[in-house]
Formats: sequence, C-alpha cells, structure tokens
Amino acid sequence: MNTVGQDFYPSSEKTLIISNSSIAEKISKVVGAKILPLKAALDPQTPFNRFELVIYVCAVPIAVRAIAKLQLDKAKDPAIVCVDETLAHCVVLLGAHKGGNQAARYLETTLNIQPVITTASDLIGAPALDQIPNYHVQGDLASVQRRINETKPVTLIANDSKEVPKVLDALPNLDDNRQDYVIEVERHGAHLRGESNKGHVLLTKRRLVLGLGCSSDCSPDELSQLVQNSLGMINADLTQVLSAATIDIRKSHPAVLSLGLEVKTYGADQLRNVQVPNPSQVVDDVVGTTSVAEAACLLGASVGGKLVLEKQRSAKATVAIAQTQNRGTVSVVGIGPGSPLLRTRKSEIALRTAEVVIGFEGYLNLCDDTLTPGQLRLSYKIGDEIERVDRAINEAANGATVALVCSGDPGVYAMASLLFERRSILAKAESFDVEVVPGVTAALAAASTSGAILGHDHAYISLSDLLTPWALIKEALIKIAPTHLALIFYNPRSKNRQHQFREAMEIMQSIRGAETPVLVAKAVSRVGQRTWITSIGNLDEETIDMETVVIVGGPWTVVDKDVIYTRRGYKGPSD
Ligand code: SAH
Repeated sequence: MNTVGQDFYPSSEKTLIISNSSIAEKISKVVGAKILPLKAALDPQTPFNRFELVIYVCAVPIAVRAIAKLQLDKAKDPAIVCVDETLAHCVVLLGAHKGGNQAARYLETTLNIQPVITTASDLIGAPALDQIPNYHVQGDLASVQRRINETKPVTLIANDSKEVPKVLDALPNLDDNRQDYVIEVERHGAHLRGESNKGHVLLTKRRLVLGLGCSSDCSPDELSQLVQNSLGMINADLTQVLSAATIDIRKSHPAVLSLGLEVKTYGADQLRNVQVPNPSQVVDDVVGTTSVAEAACLLGASVGGKLVLEKQRSAKATVAIAQTQNRGTVSVVGIGPGSPLLRTRKSEIALRTAEVVIGFEGYLNLCDDTLTPGQLRLSYKIGDEIERVDRAINEAANGATVALVCSGDPGVYAMASLLFERRSILAKAESFDVEVVPGVTAALAAASTSGAILGHDHAYISLSDLLTPWALIKEALIKIAPTHLALIFYNPRSKNRQHQFREAMEIMQSIRGAETPVLVAKAVSRVGQRTWITSIGNLDEETIDMETVVIVGGPWTVVDKDVIYTRRGYKGPSD
C-alpha cells in the first residue's frame, strides 16, 4: 500500500496481529486489531499488502522465518514488529520509519513493553530525512542519512529558505563549502536531475490535495486509474500528494481507502458553500451538494489553496486537484491526560503531521510514541507559556505546520486562549491558520475512574492565583458552594501554594458539610495513577498536589462502595 499519507498508526483496520498465544489478546485490546494464527498468516492468500502494521507475538526467529516466506516489496510492505510471549520486548523488524518504531513506542506506553529500536537516527536524536512530515525525499538517502547520523557536515541548498523543513534547523553543522553530501530543497514537484545522485538528496514539499467523488459501487481500480490520469494531466504524481478530501459519507469507501492517503472529510452542508467552476445538479440530487471533488479539495487545501485541475470524471468517479499555499498552521493539540488510549485520533494526526512540535517537556514525553525524528522538537520548562506560544506563532507565520502540545484539552486552563491573545497582540492573526484540537480533560478522565460524579451539572475552578487574584477565586467559591453543582478543582495545591486549597475546603465544608463526598484522582492515566473516594471532613491535604484533580460532590452525589456518581433526577418506582 502506498504510504503517502502520514496517518497510518494505530489504525485497527490496517493492523494485523499474528500469534498462536492467547496473550496476543492483550495487544489486540490496545490496538483493536484482528488476530490470525501463525499458520493462517503463512497462507499466500492472506493479503499482507492490505495492512500497514503487522505485530507478530512469538519469538523473533519464528517471526523472521515466517517473514522470509512472504513476497514482500519495500515500497508496499507493512511495518513489522515482533513481541515476545511474555510481553517484555518489542523488536522492530521492518518499516521502522513507516510506523514500526511508533508502534513499538505505543506498546511501551500502553502495555509497558520495552521497545527494541535499531534505527540510528531515532537512537541518537538525529533528524530522519524520510520522516519529515509533508515532504517527499528522493536520491541517495542512505549515504546522506548516515552522514547526518555521524553528525558530520552536509551542504544545504535552497532557493527559498521558507521551503526548508524545520527539522533541518537542528542539524549540527551545515557546511556550505563542500559538495560531497548535499541536501537540496526545491519547489514542490521538482525532480532529481542527472544520472548519479551519489551523496545527494532532494526534498520537496507535498502540496496537492486530491478531491475525490465516487458512487457507492465504484471499484478501487477505477478511482485509482482516474487519480493517476488526473495527476498525469498536471505532470504530477502521488509523491506530491499531501492528502485526499471527500464527502463524509465516502469516508470508509474501499476505493477511497485503497489509495492509502490521509483522508479529510466534509459534510454536504460544508461542501455546498464552496464556489466551484463545475457544479452539478445530478450530484446535488444524490448527496445534497452540487460539488464533491472540487469543493472537497478546495476545503482540504485550506485558506489560499487554489484549484489546479478541474473535475475529471470516469463512469463512477470524479477527481479534482487543489494546491495548498505555503501557509503555516498552529494546531493547539490536547493530548488527553496521559495514556495514548485516551488520545483522540485527530490529535494523533495533528501531532504526526506537524513539522514543529512545541510543548512542556513532560507533555512531549507523554506523546513521544507519536512524534518522529523528522520533526523539530522544541521542549520547554514549565512556566514559559508566552515564550512557547510566541515561538509557535513565529514558526507558523513563516509557513510551518506547528503542533502546540497541551495536556488534557487545550481550551481548559491551557494554551489555546493564550494563542489567540498573543496572535492579536503581535498583529499576526492574518498570517497563519489556527486549529484547536480537543482532548479529554483531566476531570472527565478522573470521574470515569470511579463512576460518574459529573453526571449532573458541574463547574470547574482553578485554585492557581498566579494569574487570578485569590479574592476573586474565593468569591466564586462562596457563590457556587450553596448550589447543586459538583465542583472540580484544578491546580489544587503546590509546594508554594498551600493555603488556597485549605481555605477552599473550609468554605466547602462550612456550606456543604463535612460528610460531602469527594473524589481525589492523582496522575490519571499516567504511571502511578491513584484515585480514592473520601469526604471533605476526611480529606488529607498532604495527599493533594499539582497532578491531582479534586472533585467535590453536590447534594445528589452518591457513594456506592468504590463508585461515586451524581444522580440526574430520574424518579424510582416508589416515587
Ligand atoms: N488542560 C489540562 C488542564 C491543565 S491545568 C486539562 O484539560 O486537563 C493543570 C491541572 O490539571 C493540574 O494541576 C491538575 O489539577 C489537572 N490535571 C491535568 N492532568 C491530570 C492528570 N493526568 N491527573 C490528575 N490531574 C490532572
């Protein structure tokens, strides 16, 4: 399968587990994939090319012999990893940079399986040229990558510095005098010239977005043929394609999926509002918009994108092509409370496709399994929020795709609002796009560990008075305490901020009573998670720190053994 799209792990439909051991079910639980016995996997009829990740759960020699019997092809074969039957180690066998290393890291964060990674760039932290999001690399990758891994100088040639991928900023010594090892960055669509490319690679940015339309019975071959022909008409090929775009009802159509591209989808109501050269009443009658292919690629190419090929059609498919402008984006990404299992798919895509990833170092470590050595990673200490946001703004204003990483949700006591504020102060609102990618906020993850304390109305309050005067926080507490709202406390208590939590609980106790039930949740979905149910009167403040959420119940909150939930007011049979 073609892997032009970056979005390929973990996708349960495209992952296969091969094992004779029942322990494989544990892996299946976290990746959601089907398990085949070793014998079935050796059957030549098993369509390996349909998968992008294969996980063998057995000893490495068994996996290696099994793989040796397969007819694999470097361009198409899946990433292959092998996990031993005690779930101690995960060895990356094939396709390290096509999802293998990411899979191994994912299994480390979800099941604590030790990854065994042998690709040098990942181990020494050198930029990997074949991992740069949104770029295509051609030429003598092996020699130039080896040179980079050895931290020896290479020559960088670029006509337009804006086209240079950000990760190359991290190269130790760029040598402009010698020409033995050259990284050339050229405009979109350029090809390497000449016979010998020894020591020479060419990087080009992918810019094309394919707009796809097809009837429900369109075959993969028909769509693929039309895509090839359409690209040929503008002298392009799949290596220049960034993503595909279509109407939401075709999201899982086999012909669309078979292209192996990241697919963006839009509803008929969004497509209907796009001005296109070739609207069609027939299409409108069937799907409720006069254009799918042209409108979808224009939306997919975002602000400044332009149509470079109008709608082409075959019997059952349509294709149009748009080209993105060199315009940057900041995605403010919420990675959830910790574990990859509580991350949204959209946030994983935003993390994986960013050229620059910016965040507090602890949060970057939490999403390490999704990041690649092709990205420029800028990690900050806690407290440098303005600096972080301004760096993201500057990178995006220069055309980069940036992920600004937040824990939980980026709009809940996090960086999204600061980003909007700073882009206005710096007068840069027009120079880049912003996308807020939601995540599971700590309160939701905390409540779910022990029932449903947030089952009815509730309010969030942060006890940090670094930015809000304590008097204001206290006033809000005094007003909320007499209501029926469950109350969630973020930033409850730190080494230097202790009286606030004590005072807050005193207020709650004086109004709600010492018996009021409380859920305490520490390091939710992280190593060392601990949650317990107590009451305001029995709460030990020494157990509360900055990795803790405290949720005080309301009058309808009930404790039932190890569960705490808030009733929604349904009447029982006796009422
Ligand atoms: N944007 C984050 C909140 C940032 S404020 C979110 O939506 O979750 C930081 C506070 O969030 C911490 O002091 C703590 O109260 C809470 N918090 C964040 N992650 C947590 C976790 N995994 N477990 C417990 N509390 C957490």
